[in-house]
Amino acid sequence: MKTPLSDLPPLTEPLRAEALLAWLKTSDSEALEHLWARADELRRQGVGDEVHLRGLVEISNRCTRQCAYCGLRAANRSLSRYSMSDEEILECAHRIRDHGWGTVVLQSGEDPTFTSERVEALMRRIKVETGLAITLSLGERTGEELRAWKQAGADRYLLRFETSDRALFQRIHPPLPGRDSDRLGLLKVLRDIGYEVGSGVMVGIPGQGFESLARDLELFAELELDMIGLGPFIPHPDTPLGMREPPRYPDQVPATVDMTFRVLALARVQRCEANLPATTALATLDREQGRILGLQRGANVVMPNVTPRRHREFYSIYPGKAGLHETAEQTCLQIDAQLASIGRYVAAGPGHSPAFRRRIREQEGIP
Ligand code: SAM
Repeated sequence: MKTPLSDLPPLTEPLRAEALLAWLKTSDSEALEHLWARADELRRQGVGDEVHLRGLVEISNRCTRQCAYCGLRAANRSLSRYSMSDEEILECAHRIRDHGWGTVVLQSGEDPTFTSERVEALMRRIKVETGLAITLSLGERTGEELRAWKQAGADRYLLRFETSDRALFQRIHPPLPGRDSDRLGLLKVLRDIGYEVGSGVMVGIPGQGFESLARDLELFAELELDMIGLGPFIPHPDTPLGMREPPRYPDQVPATVDMTFRVLALARVQRCEANLPATTALATLDREQGRILGLQRGANVVMPNVTPRRHREFYSIYPGKAGLHETAEQTCLQIDAQLASIGRYVAAGPGHSPAFRRRIREQEGIP
């Protein structure tokens, strides 16, 4: 569908699903150039030219869930499992602080050895010893746990809703026996507790249609997300969705770099003041250009991997992950050079999103 730029809705404010659909489907090259330029302009207006570096620590690949897309799923017996000790995690946090970055991101499968009390104690230690902002991405946990961790020092929580298509979500993300999996509900809980809230989707999940992807983008605005993480779906051979040639679905969204860039650029239109990372999944599909083009098409965050290298290859959510053998120092040098080439620079400080700062000011009645 080659809808020309002149027939497409203007990118001046958050769009509704129908307008987003037209932008997702157009094959007009002038329209796409306009989309990239507009996303870059809105990024500059909303969050500025600075780029936040977050140190990512993949603290455990153990998982009780059976997500049909993810290599960490419990049924994947071919994966060696690890779970980092508190001392190992603290050591990584200290390294992040020594790099001068403001945030540690702790991510894992749903690993019951990270009990509520253990995570709470870890939050306190990281805060006292490093003063870093802490982002958690530990999956679906109870409101009680999330509240305790916030009080102990956690600042942000990332929980992608993966897709707004309920039937598709239920197929690919089965709940634990006897439980519900209501990620949209949990995002509201996180917001009420006072977290800076991040969510997002995968682009090109087998069975994902364009209309639901347009609805995903509409939801980013409705949920007033502070952070949005997006990446292409990458098939993992040891998962049910890992087949190279999935069945042909009508209206299937392609899991391509191009489509991910569109979703990223449109996410910037939807949430001008949110923090948006140029994700590893994007850099995995396009090793040369994925990160830098992401930063020029809406993104303002990069998450160098600080996981100890002996564990890294086992955090195999999808195959061929970018940066597997790079040290954080190498990633840093590369990022510095890339940022210099596009007139951007590394930010100092914790890097809360303007969207979050605005919300807190409004809640406190500060003009
Ligand atoms: N367990 C936590 C959770 O589910 O939110 C955090 C870890 S989970 C591995 C982080 C994200 O990886 C998921 O939200 C999903 O979007 C992404 N992911 C998993 N498998 C993927 C795949 N095959 N391709 C692309 N992204 C994938």
